[in-house]
Amino acid sequence: MGSHEVLRRVFGYDSFRGAQSEIVEHVIAGGDALVLMPTGGGKSLCYQIPALVRDGVGVVISPLIALMQDQVDAMRDLGVRAGFLNSTQYPDERSLVEAEFLAGELDLLYLAPERLRVEQTARLLERGRIALFAIDEAHCVAQWGHDFRPDYLALSHLHERWPDVPRIALTATATKATHAEIAERLGLGSAKHFVASFDRPNIQYRIVPKNEPRKQLLELLRNEHQGDAGIVYCLSRNSVEKTAEFLNQNGVRALPYHAGLDSGTRARNQAQFLREEGLVMVATIAFGMGIDKPDVRFVAHLDLPKSVEGYYQETGRAGRDGLPSTAWLAYGLQDVVQQRKMIDDSDGDQQHRRRQIAHLEAMLALCETVECRRVQLLNYFGQDGEPCGNCDTCLNPPETWDGTVPAQKVLSTVYRLRSERRQKFGAGQTIDILLGRKTAKVIQFDHDALSVFGIGTELNESGWRGVVRQLLAQGLLAVEGEFSTLALTPASEEVLYRGRRVLLRREAERAAKVRAAKPKKGEPVDLPAEAAPVFERLRAWRATQAKEQGVPAYVIFHDATLRQIAATGPSTLAELGGVTGVGENKLAKYGQQILDTLAS
Ligand code: ADP
Ligand code: ZN
Repeated sequence: MGSHEVLRRVFGYDSFRGAQSEIVEHVIAGGDALVLMPTGGGKSLCYQIPALVRDGVGVVISPLIALMQDQVDAMRDLGVRAGFLNSTQYPDERSLVEAEFLAGELDLLYLAPERLRVEQTARLLERGRIALFAIDEAHCVAQWGHDFRPDYLALSHLHERWPDVPRIALTATATKATHAEIAERLGLGSAKHFVASFDRPNIQYRIVPKNEPRKQLLELLRNEHQGDAGIVYCLSRNSVEKTAEFLNQNGVRALPYHAGLDSGTRARNQAQFLREEGLVMVATIAFGMGIDKPDVRFVAHLDLPKSVEGYYQETGRAGRDGLPSTAWLAYGLQDVVQQRKMIDDSDGDQQHRRRQIAHLEAMLALCETVECRRVQLLNYFGQDGEPCGNCDTCLNPPETWDGTVPAQKVLSTVYRLRSERRQKFGAGQTIDILLGRKTAKVIQFDHDALSVFGIGTELNESGWRGVVRQLLAQGLLAVEGEFSTLALTPASEEVLYRGRRVLLRREAERAAKVRAAKPKKGEPVDLPAEAAPVFERLRAWRATQAKEQGVPAYVIFHDATLRQIAATGPSTLAELGGVTGVGENKLAKYGQQILDTLAS
């Protein structure tokens, strides 16, 4: 079979997307490839189809042990002969897969990278016939990324041992630095590089000032994502627990996930999130790599991500199915102070620290931009874009205002506090002084006698916090040391003494609601009203199937496929086979049941 026929008959798709076709042909011809494509872009087909077309078994190296069973189930449901080898298996299961491999009864073999280090596994692979090596989540080889896996370093030897087997490395991480590091460490310098656009047009990006983050989150969920599945990211384990509890108390079904939970609980919560509909996962960044649940409708951040890469990866888990989704981040002064402090306190050399600061600054620039968020994101990854009309700054352009005078007030207060012998004060004291508040701490240090005391009544507390945050983000102010003391920078002096103007982003009292035209839950764009009940019947049928087989619902059919079936109402197996996502195997397995459901 040629690649196009495999696409149609096995996967039930009419045409390749973007560079898929070019990549597939390149690998079928035996070429090495490095593929950079966003989440949801369709990376899996790029190795699955060559594995089916070429002789032998496609060996897929993936760090996602907990997801291998689902991946294999999904392949088997398509009629593809797949198996996996990892450390979670019993020896007899492993022997069975090894026997299938040797007998040439597999099309795809998923392999955890640590298995390859075991010489026995390498010898096993040498006794079979290998179609290709696919190195999934290839950014795990990058040493400075937060997904680094030492076992990935050993993958550079694949080429020496199997010089004739093509290798295809894939990742959704887009930065030039990571791209170069992958190419170098995996020895893919002479491979063909395929770099897709990193735009995710169906994701609406929104970044709001943080006031009461949990309440703000609840409002978002109630107004726009009632009953939707989503992920909420928090920085600490403690705030993960608290937030999950808060959501449950307020009628939103939520589960926690962080590295402090035992592995059994983590696996259970992850499986539940994948299998049930409408669950919210509250997690640290320990959660999410490789989660291929297609209908995650929102990703919310309650704390500032450490880098734009991290933000892009995490938000990218929303909307793999291409339907409208929200990426929402609440961020405030405390985030900036806290992250600076974490960097200052971190071990690691000066160079590492400088790199972390650069990451933080890029993230802050994205938060404070008055331009299109999407354009800023794409530019960060070295790609161009047009103002998108689907981010908060496009939908609700922020005003800027001349904040030179308030900036000078903050900076001179900081200057006066700094000149006091050995006393160290943070943002709170500075703002209390500007507002003329006689707090115990103000009185204790005689700060009500300062000439700046009470000169800042034009703004309220949250207004001043916004000013301080933006000054920090613009590098016009710094935080230092154990007590997060505010400090001047060389650039502050330009504002204080040399007439440099400061432009600030106007903060809405309450974040104005931004909503693009968006279908309501259960009423997707292409579904006529009379088809809605049919869609619900199909979903109910799918839920029963999923339960019986113990697989996530989307392994059987995606929402998009069921929707198309509901909208077109096929009456024969042949017509049903024409629906996108219905391949030959699924038609044989489920076709009659679907027709029966439609007729019922
Ligand atoms: P990635 O691994 O890049 O995040 P996937 O390989 O999981 O993305 O693909 C994302 C979704 O797009 C999946 O639901 C997949 O079935 C679908 N898809 C991929 N390629 C095509 C295609 N050519 N036609 C239709 N659907 C596709
Ligand atoms: Zn935009």
